[in-house]
Amino acid sequence: MAGEALIEMRGVNKYFGQLHVLQDINLTVGRGEVVVIIGPSGGGKSTLCRAINRLEAIESGSITLAGKPLPEEGRALAQMRADVGMVFQTFNLFAHKTVLANVMLAPVKVRKKSKDEAARRARELLDRVGLASQADKYPAQLSGGQQQRVAIARALAMDPQALLFDEPTSALDPEMINEVLEVMQQLAREGMTMVVVTHEMGFARSAANRVVFMADGRIVEDRTPEAFFTAPESDRARGFLSKIL
Ligand code: ADP
Ligand code: MG
Repeated sequence: MAGEALIEMRGVNKYFGQLHVLQDINLTVGRGEVVVIIGPSGGGKSTLCRAINRLEAIESGSITLAGKPLPEEGRALAQMRADVGMVFQTFNLFAHKTVLANVMLAPVKVRKKSKDEAARRARELLDRVGLASQADKYPAQLSGGQQQRVAIARALAMDPQALLFDEPTSALDPEMINEVLEVMQQLAREGMTMVVVTHEMGFARSAANRVVFMADGRIVEDRTPEAFFTAPESDRARGFLSKIL
């Protein structure tokens, strides 16, 4: 692990009615670490990400962020959510706001930054994701790959301690996947703590410190990418890899 534990899940269980969707999950993500979560559809990957951000409540176990339990509600919860940015498969940009306004919004509303300061920072971040020239456009005028890069800039605008990505390239046309993965690779190199649910095995191999294989609500393997891809230990992971590689 690179440095102290930033995200720590201990004995986490969650149910959707009868469905035991997270089963005794233990997962530690160190500061600066990139953890890729892979596994079959319905295995609980999205629910795990959402639990880290408390978009889903858990039934038992603990989740801590930099050693502190996740807040239950109110301002403390909003603050925590701002500290852990989330990037979804669907970009969820505000259609009636410009790209710049999308990136500025939360820093002004939640962080109480001045508009000038937020705009300056937003332009910096748009430049970083290769979209400086698109600042005054509306989301619908951008390609899917560009919209997803705006969503990443928007998450970064909150100066998060960690970023969660839930299949960030799954809704994109193939030719747009790389431009998004390149931005993510760059963030990884810069030391951003990242949890990434993805089927992009090239990204997992090159950017991940660890690969977590999840199936049926359980973490089945949690290993380095080299170990996982060259010699998966479980039948479940071997079967999964043989289908996607
Ligand atoms: P993955 O992201 O690995 O595909 P999910 O975390 O989305 O898996 O879902 C895990 C299981 O939980 C699936 O069987 C799914 O149908 C179920 N599930 C997800 N969200 C809900 C919900 N809000 N209510 C009931 N069941 C859900
Ligand atoms: Mg999912």
